[in-house]
Amino acid sequence: MNDNQLSKRLETAASYIKKGARLADIGSDHAYLPCHLAQKEQVSFAIAGEVVIGPYASAKKQIKESNVQAVVEARLGDGLAVIEKSDAIDTITICGMGGDLIARILDAGKEDNRLETVERLILQPNNGEKKLRQWLFDNNYGIISEEILKENDKIYEIIVAEPSDDISAYTEDDFTFGKQLRQEKGPVFVEKWQREYDKYTYILNSLNESQRDVSEKKKTVEAFMTKIQEEIA
Ligand code: SAM
Repeated sequence: MNDNQLSKRLETAASYIKKGARLADIGSDHAYLPCHLAQKEQVSFAIAGEVVIGPYASAKKQIKESNVQAVVEARLGDGLAVIEKSDAIDTITICGMGGDLIARILDAGKEDNRLETVERLILQPNNGEKKLRQWLFDNNYGIISEEILKENDKIYEIIVAEPSDDISAYTEDDFTFGKQLRQEKGPVFVEKWQREYDKYTYILNSLNESQRDVSEKKKTVEAFMTKIQEEIA
């Protein structure tokens, strides 16, 4: 791996990691993110956490090949269980998983007191962003930044959150669309929700052809389509 190999998605997540951070990258298949940051001397210590043996082995190999063994450590384990209190981790990245799974990993880690020293969460859910924002809100994490980007025709959201005693109110639509993203309404945001609208159009057409009573389901789909339309109008 060289410095140019990080994807735009991981590069964007990396841009939120403070110089000298003590990082835990959870679900660190290949450990690209921590290795890249260690090579750039952006992190002082990093854990590449993996629950599956194959990706864990790839992470170990990458750490060796990148010659960053002094800074990055691969650990096999479920979610935040790879973090020890003595690691003094201040930053966690969880990228490339469903938002529901990310929320469950954070929840289990919180129960287990693994989040006590953590000052920043950098999360890149592949879907289920609403559930993840809801988890953050319910657990007193304020979203300090949100980004949406397109790479290889895929659209990704990055959510950066920090513990806070003073979190502003969120509406249902803020959870769904992202408070900052819906304020900015950039072209990628509009494209994402146009794609979602198209998916729901397809679902609605299928429901219209159903022989069963799907009137309630249709109402829900139509209501959400109207919401999307209003959002990107
Ligand atoms: N974070 C990398 C990225 O964004 O490119 C890899 C993403 S890969 C799609 C997701 C990784 O998360 C897989 O390697 C998977 O084994 C790992 N994973 C899934 N659940 C996990 C858990 N509970 N704890 C640790 N790793 C997990």
